[in-house]
This record gives sequence, C-alpha cells and structure tokens, in this order.
Amino acid sequence: MKAMPLFEMKNVSIGYNGVPALSGITLKIERGERVALVGPSGAGKSTLLTTLYGQQKARSALVPQEFALVKTLSVFHNVYMGRLNRHSGFYNLLNLIHPMSRQLDAVAPFLDALGLSDKRDIPVGELSGGQQQRTAVARALFQGGEVLLGDEPVSSVDPLQSREVLGAINGAYETVVLAMHDVELALRFTDRLIGIKDGRMHFDRPTSGMTASELDGFFRQ
Ligand code: ADP
Repeated sequence: MKAMPLFEMKNVSIGYNGVPALSGITLKIERGERVALVGPSGAGKSTLLTTLYGQQKARSALVPQEFALVKTLSVFHNVYMGRLNRHSGFYNLLNLIHPMSRQLDAVAPFLDALGLSDKRDIPVGELSGGQQQRTAVARALFQGGEVLLGDEPVSSVDPLQSREVLGAINGAYETVVLAMHDVELALRFTDRLIGIKDGRMHFDRPTSGMTASELDGFFRQ
C-alpha cells in the first residue's frame, strides 16, 4: 500500500475577513521532497505555509516569519525551547535557572552550524536581525521532526550565510517546505517549485533544468 502524502490539499480556499488569500489550491507533498513556495509579496505563500503547518503540527518544526523568539532570554535558551516538550516543566525550569551541561552540549553543534557559538549566552534582543533569524533556524533544527517548514527563513541573512543556513536546513531535514521570494536560492536548495500569485497556484514543477530567468514573467506584476 502506498504511504499517505505528508501534506494534501484538495481545492482549498482561505480568506481573511471574507477577502480571499488562497483560491482552489490542490497539492500533495510527499516525505523526502524539498519544496519552495515562490511568488511575489502578498501572493499567499505565508498563508499556504501556515495552512500546511496546521495539517502536521506534531510532525513539523516551524521557522516563523517573525521568528517568535523570547528576546530577554539567551540564544541557548531560545534554541533549547525547540525541545521543551521532551522534558518535565520542573526540568525545564531548573535548566532555565542554571543551564545543564548536557543541554549546553546538545545545543552546541546546532549553534556551530548556524555560526552562533560565540553568541550562546547573549540575550536574543541584543542580536542583529540576521543573528535572530539564525537562532530561530537553530531552534527548529534542534527540535527535529519529520519536516521543516520555513517562512522566508533567510530573509534577514546575508547572501553567503543564506547558503550556509539553507545547507544546514537541508542537512538536518529530508523534507522541507520553504516560502521564499529568492528564486536563485530556491532553485539551488529545493527540487520542486510551487508558484503562487494572487492566491492561485500558477505552476508546480521540478527545479531540475530550470533557470531563474524563465520566471521573470511570473514575477512581473
Ligand atoms: P505572502 O506570504 O506571499 O507575502 P500572505 O500569505 O502573507 O502572502 O498574504 C496573502 C494575502 O492575505 C495578502 O493580500 C495579505 O495582505 C493577506 N493577509 C495575510 N495575513 C492576513 C491577516 N492576518 N489578516 C488579513 N489579511 C491578511
């Protein structure tokens, strides 16, 4: 028997206060796929990603667009939060007051992968936007799970680091769905592009053999 797809939508339409944001979306995403949702700002990518997250919350790690970090807590504590539900409330409280060495060790490789080792004890509110975004990615990688969903996960990171961050995401997760506006990065790090514009799906095709210039017309408003 064929395994169920991880995500499935059949003719889904979603609106905010009666104004449509997504119209008639039909798609399946299987385990092992790396998918980019591309399209101009306001196209509906975020809405689609959030809807996918709602289908598989327990299996997903999310990098939200606004990062959802606790600014007064350190990078370590924010990344540790990716696994809060693996421990008791009492354990988490103790670890908050005095970080346990086994948890510091567990988080260390993720900070290393995201270039944040020297920021471990710094409150997130004192970091740059790019460092905060990398902290949100480190938390999602530390969390683990079947699929990583990222809402523009490198929007605040410089081009060189963007490639490192996306490489780290792909290294940690076999199944990835990323809302992205940067087609060059999408072509390099994913194997399927879903093009969204005005809430509708305009194409759904493999990245193999595609060039960014082919999509110039799609992005022209
Ligand atoms: P994208 O991620 O491609 O920029 P979004 O999914 O954020 O697109 O937005 C799609 C449409 O829905 C836009 O017109 C946007 O203004 C609208 N929208 C998104 N979120 C909300 C919200 N919380 N309330 C009202 N309208 C929203």
